[in-house]
Amino acid sequence: MDSQQFREFGKAAIDLMADYYDTIRTRDVLPSVEPGYLLKLLPENAPEEPESWKDVLNDFSQSIMPGITHWHSPQFHAFYPTGSSFPGIVGGLLSDSLAVIGFSWMSSPACTELEVVTMNWLGKLLGLPEEFLNCSDGPGGGVIQGSASEATLVGLLVAKNKTVHRLMRNDPTLNEGELNAKLVAYTSDQCNSSVEKSGLLGSMKMRLLKSDPEGRLRGETLKNAFEEDRAKGLIPCYVIANLGTTGTCAFDPLYELGPVCNESDVWLHVDAAYAGAAFICPEFRGLMKGVEYADSFDFNPHKWMLVNFDCSAMWVKNGYDLINTFDIQRIYLDDVKTDIKIPDYRHWQIPLGRRFRALKLWTVLRIYGAEGIRNHLRNQISLAQHFAKLVREDDRFLVEPEPSMGLVCFRLKDGDIVTKKLLENLTEKKQIYMVAATYRGRYIIRFVVCSNLTTRQDIEISWNKIRQEADTIIQPTIHTKSQIPAINHFEILSSCEKSK
Ligand code: PLP
Repeated sequence: MDSQQFREFGKAAIDLMADYYDTIRTRDVLPSVEPGYLLKLLPENAPEEPESWKDVLNDFSQSIMPGITHWHSPQFHAFYPTGSSFPGIVGGLLSDSLAVIGFSWMSSPACTELEVVTMNWLGKLLGLPEEFLNCSDGPGGGVIQGSASEATLVGLLVAKNKTVHRLMRNDPTLNEGELNAKLVAYTSDQCNSSVEKSGLLGSMKMRLLKSDPEGRLRGETLKNAFEEDRAKGLIPCYVIANLGTTGTCAFDPLYELGPVCNESDVWLHVDAAYAGAAFICPEFRGLMKGVEYADSFDFNPHKWMLVNFDCSAMWVKNGYDLINTFDIQRIYLDDVKTDIKIPDYRHWQIPLGRRFRALKLWTVLRIYGAEGIRNHLRNQISLAQHFAKLVREDDRFLVEPEPSMGLVCFRLKDGDIVTKKLLENLTEKKQIYMVAATYRGRYIIRFVVCSNLTTRQDIEISWNKIRQEADTIIQPTIHTKSQIPAINHFEILSSCEKSK
């Protein structure tokens, strides 16, 4: 393909995608294909001869698009959002076109330095303590990881290295292997699956401590766990606090967990994958009170901050902790001398290679401006509140716990069986997509405002689909508090049981 064909192919692809976003509301959010559909459609072997880009784009529309779940449909309310915006897409295109691998400063100076600059911008926008920033006097700084999962694992590996070396410095007779086997990591039973997985990947026992009734890990619980483990000869090493849990978007009190960790020389990592973006709005910063106790902090601009996957922003107070853990020298990696202010980012992450992700962050920050991003976040929160209001007006439903950020959890008062049935029926119809969680032992449905295209009208469309589906499961009702319908609980439960 020559550059002229690249221009034509690229422009046609952008037109196709612009049309896609313009018409996304005409599609069902979930695809109507069966497992294996694409395996049947596509040839078994790669083409021997070159094919035309027009054929490729045509097959994209005919074969690939039918198997797409439309994460940017305003009726997509599952998980948490994955970021997408036109500036983010173009930033990614620029990065893919340059196709540099920025593992060292010389491998592409702009790749490293734009990351330093944008991570300082972003850290300041969030109101993070100065110590986390590369532009402070200390050894802190930011790095863009591929995902929050990677950031949690990086934190774990660094905590492990740091703890073992500290103990061995104090007592050189200690055995590294034996110490490693005694290390323990802690988080709450509300943590994301990736947090638990980091323990598996990093070979560290991970304790999921019981959260309080609001889904928060409390300082007292953590302190007791440390004491129990020390009494067994184990060594507390790493704590992952959650700001915005996946299930219900609960916030652990860092001001309680932080002192417990600091007193015991335990690394505190903050996983704010989704909700961290909200700290760009000063009114939410109270939720990260105590962040100054943390050693590392991570959130995903690729979730709620309009940057396309992958872009996970991680800051550490001391970049040398990462370098001491991950620096492995080879003669072919010899480079001009850099320092902590101009990092060789390969020492700050798991892989050697790294994409020019800062370009996506840079285009989004510049084209929206901080105020544009704040407007986006506040608008999504107000849409979630509108949804919660609609649910509360229907007496068959309960909103619980209290909505948090762009997440509203709700259930039918008639219990778990009917609530589950409601979600199953809606998923089967493919027009709206939500997933479940549990809260205080009850089955709840999570409704997240995800697409940046979402309007009040879209929220009402989603709510009407939910309400109408509820009518088919439990007695159609009058939907105002003033006219509470009589509900035959026994009939509902037994009809659900039968239909299972
Ligand atoms: N942490 C939390 C609280 C999350 O909600 C998620 C994903 O939704 C993750 C971590 C994992 O994020 P990533 O896919 O970037 O690894």
